[in-house]
Amino acid sequence: MPEDPRQALLREAADRSPHWDVLVIGGGATGLATAWDAVSRGLRVALLEQADFAGATSSRSTKLVHGGVRYLQKGELDLVVEALRERRLLLHNAPEYTRTLRFVLPATRSFGRHYYRFGLWLYDFLAGKSGIEKACLLDKAETLERLPRLVLEGLKGGVAYTDGQFDDAALCIGMAQAIRASGGLVLNYAPVEKLVVENGKARGLVARDEESGDSWEMRASVVINATGIFADALREKNHIASQWTVRASRGSHLVCRREILGGNHALILPKTRDGRVLFAIPWKDRAVVGTTDVPTGHPCLDPEITPDERRFLLEEASRALGVTEADVTSQWAGLRPLVSRAHVRKTASLSRKHVIEVSPEGLVTVLGGKWTTARHMGEDAIDTAFRAHDLPVALSSTADRPLSAHGARPRPHLLDEPADPGPEALREEVLEAVRHGYARSLDDVLSRRLRVLPLDAMIARALAPQVVEIMAPELGWTSGKTAGQLADFLRLSASFVPLMND
Ligand SMILES: Cc1cc2nc3c(=O)[nH]c(=O)nc-3n(C[C@H](O)[C@H](O)[C@H](O)COP(=O)(O)OP(=O)(O)OC[C@H]3O[C@@H](n4cnc5c(N)ncnc54)[C@H](O)[C@@H]3O)c2cc1C
Repeated sequence: MPEDPRQALLREAADRSPHWDVLVIGGGATGLATAWDAVSRGLRVALLEQADFAGATSSRSTKLVHGGVRYLQKGELDLVVEALRERRLLLHNAPEYTRTLRFVLPATRSFGRHYYRFGLWLYDFLAGKSGIEKACLLDKAETLERLPRLVLEGLKGGVAYTDGQFDDAALCIGMAQAIRASGGLVLNYAPVEKLVVENGKARGLVARDEESGDSWEMRASVVINATGIFADALREKNHIASQWTVRASRGSHLVCRREILGGNHALILPKTRDGRVLFAIPWKDRAVVGTTDVPTGHPCLDPEITPDERRFLLEEASRALGVTEADVTSQWAGLRPLVSRAHVRKTASLSRKHVIEVSPEGLVTVLGGKWTTARHMGEDAIDTAFRAHDLPVALSSTADRPLSAHGARPRPHLLDEPADPGPEALREEVLEAVRHGYARSLDDVLSRRLRVLPLDAMIARALAPQVVEIMAPELGWTSGKTAGQLADFLRLSASFVPLMND
């Protein structure tokens, strides 16, 4: 039997002889983009993730590669320009993981139609030459042609415009593969227990293998904290002061049968009851409806949608598209790592701009931002870190560095795959996930490699016994461990099942 691929990673991580240029803590979009930027500059980089890659916020987004129409409304033009540039780069560098998508914004007032048309003209203008289809005005018939299930009262027409969408967890795994193929080290299930601080300077860290319990020390020129909603916890544990604090905000989604849209266009509702925008987006063979914005003081890996949020999303989706409970196949929540200096109550009013902070100990923390801007955050983090440590570094090259040309292994037709892959594809995809995709648990496979759980919770629970049987011999699991994996998954997936937690 071939050696478990994790063993080589663990040996390399515990080997004390190499001096790392960069150690990145956190394997979400920000940490992976930072490690990708570092390795692309020829630096020796290792990334450590406490759970699975994308296990926290980065697999729970609305899956939009976007400039943010909402930020345009708030007048945050610099953020929109940055995100639109990054949208273009991501569509170019990761075409297998991303695609453009046509949106329809319906209007219930004639003036509203022209107001939104102007806003989306500005959006296209700020995007520059992106090769993306431009916005256009729609009359009522044209709006309904694109969204045949739309039942909004008083519909006058709408505006069609283009943005991007992607598979967030798959892109994280693709980045991890590309970092590894380029000579970097990526290790999941390796929590950083503490920082090594000597003479007041951060010189490295102590990490633990979650599977064996073994700990080891790693040393580096630069240590980067990319732990999202957990950034304050890491700093507090190591007595590192900060001017910025993380304000977690929960965003929840319902996943529905694809038929609720009646076509390939996405819907954006410009104003819900709570004054936010709401999306209903075709994603694989389902439709994702979201999201909410609820401040929460408890960073955790597995946040859950509340009955109130569920009711709110269902009511809004019903008002616009006639969605009923029977249409819902999955539900989930994620926590936005918003950043603020002082006490700000309303998280919806916090900027999505990213912040990079270098502590007096030299720990570099990269925080906030959006999935879409992760590449730029990574570039900025490495530039700032090397400047702060007065070290020479090559220029970033990730703006023009396609992932799959550098070792990423996207599944074919990633954005069109069904919730249930079918028996033949299932086996092949589970083996790929374990052998080449760093999957270590049943949840890793069903949530973030095959995406079955976020698409359809009941299908995921039904497939779990088959999947665990394919994984067990690959990972050398005993019958006790195999049964434990199944039980853990059934417990964890319960909150994804519509209605069960109401
Ligand atoms: C509901 C919702 C919808 C969103 N929709 C969009 C969207 O459509 N488009 C968009 O561009 N953005 C979107 N975002 C924002 C985007 O998802 C986030 O900005 C991004 O995923 C944050 O990534 P991150 O790497 O900073 O955080 P995370 O993904 O949370 O990664 C941090 C990682 O650090 C790890 N970690 C923590 N402590 C340790 C430790 N001690 N040792 C090792 N590892 C540790 C965690 O386990 C975690 O995996 C959305 C966010 C939410 C919540």
